[in-house]
Amino acid sequence: MAITLSNERDELRLRDKKPLYSEAEARAEAERCLYCSDAPCIKACPTEIDIPTFIKQIASENVRGSAKTIFDQNILGHSCARVCPVEVLCVGSCVYTAWGREPIPIGRLQRYATETTVKGIEKGAAPLHTPKAKTGKKVALIGAGPASLACAAELTLEGHTAVIFEKRGVAGGLNTTGIAPYKLHSQDAVAEVEWVQKLGVEIRLNSEITKDTATKLLADYDAVYIGVGLGADSKLNVPGEEGQGVVGATEWIEQMKLVPGTAKTLGDVIVVGGGNTAIDVARECALLGAKSVTMVYRRSTEEMSGYKHELEGARKEGVRFLTNTQPVGVVRDEKGALKALKVAHATAGVPVAGTETEVPCELVTLAIGQSKLREIASFFDGVEIDRRGCVVADPKTGATGNAKVFAGGDCINGGKEVVNAVADGRNTARFLTAAWTAASTSSASK
Ligand SMILES: Cc1cc2nc3c(=O)[nH]c(=O)nc-3n(C[C@H](O)[C@H](O)[C@H](O)COP(=O)(O)OP(=O)(O)OC[C@H]3O[C@@H](n4cnc5c(N)ncnc54)[C@H](O)[C@@H]3O)c2cc1C
Ligand code: SF4
Repeated sequence: MAITLSNERDELRLRDKKPLYSEAEARAEAERCLYCSDAPCIKACPTEIDIPTFIKQIASENVRGSAKTIFDQNILGHSCARVCPVEVLCVGSCVYTAWGREPIPIGRLQRYATETTVKGIEKGAAPLHTPKAKTGKKVALIGAGPASLACAAELTLEGHTAVIFEKRGVAGGLNTTGIAPYKLHSQDAVAEVEWVQKLGVEIRLNSEITKDTATKLLADYDAVYIGVGLGADSKLNVPGEEGQGVVGATEWIEQMKLVPGTAKTLGDVIVVGGGNTAIDVARECALLGAKSVTMVYRRSTEEMSGYKHELEGARKEGVRFLTNTQPVGVVRDEKGALKALKVAHATAGVPVAGTETEVPCELVTLAIGQSKLREIASFFDGVEIDRRGCVVADPKTGATGNAKVFAGGDCINGGKEVVNAVADGRNTARFLTAAWTAASTSSASK
């Protein structure tokens, strides 16, 4: 499967904020690492990559060995290097940070090791991994996002057959359709998907799993993995919302990343929300040349759930903040075109009557959360959802109430990071491998 992406995509106008290090830069940074024995950076990584070891391997010019160290724990180590919020994970825990000194740029070193090695393999160097002999076990995975990709890759390396079913015409999940372009462009996410396919993972695009097809999966495969992520963007439910100019944030970002012309001319943009998706879309619009970008949030800036470093980035890019403000309606002209967002002052998130004003705009993006794909639970006997709408699964193994069904990623945690989805997928693959190995050993000894 070769996915062709247009060279005219709007996201390509946004440059990589942290480009690939040169060899000299990588060596210089790697040599600063103290190789701490209790390495707090490892503990802060959800996939527990042996960070001091991979950094030492870069310093000693063993870049291929460094990539192997990373991939052994995190097969999507390349995209994680680029998209992980390292400021609150490994880099945030680096001892240099605690001392108020420049921390080790772990993400950029990880990118250097993985990208350099994968490029070398593409140019003819020997592959890093050889899958084990076939075991005869088959797993179907629903959704081709980071959770399923990590699970499928690990399963394949262990000799099991992994087939991913993806409803979209493009694989990679939000890595391809959602990540801010200045961190990761879609073509690099797709390249990583192709690297996973080269390990032997099969991906069937345009293959949405429904209640009917789910039953067949259960019959045809030894296990099923649910990695469906989250659903559509939530709505405001205010008068005038439906129609031109008001769009969900993840929907807009996907179009901007994949469909040329989405962000050709941006006028005055309003972003509703205060989380990381809201900050992302605000920064993207600002960098793409919007006349103005205003984030409207119903509480104070301090109460925004987005990362502080991302918020600071938005501020530097000229994003304005309208806090303690709640949208109460959308104003349209007689032809239905968007004219303004009607807002009211909010106290503790609740709009105050009589304080309404109109903020003129040409685009409103709604980043107030995504719905949960609750219906997936009804596809399988025994699978349940919790009060939040997340699939109930053991966070260590992905096991659900159905012995053949496992789940991981955003659909079980409600929306975290790529690295959490990767850890979930990997852990399920390891759990299944251990269970199947134990079962075949005990039947052989009888
Ligand atoms: C705008 C945005 C920006 C983000 N930025 C970052 C970031 O910078 N760093 C970071 O670490 N994390 C970021 N995240 C979070 C991260 O992208 C997710 O945590 C991660 O992608 C979750 O992986 P997943 O595999 O669980 O789900 P997803 O990536 O959502 O993949 C799920 C896949 O399942 C498919 N699917 C759904 N239903 C079906 C079905 N019935 N049949 C077949 N296929 C189906 C979907 O089409 C999709 O491809 C961001 C999220 C958003 C929304
Ligand atoms: S905490 Fe910092 S200095 Fe210590 S091993 Fe990790 S990256 Fe190196």
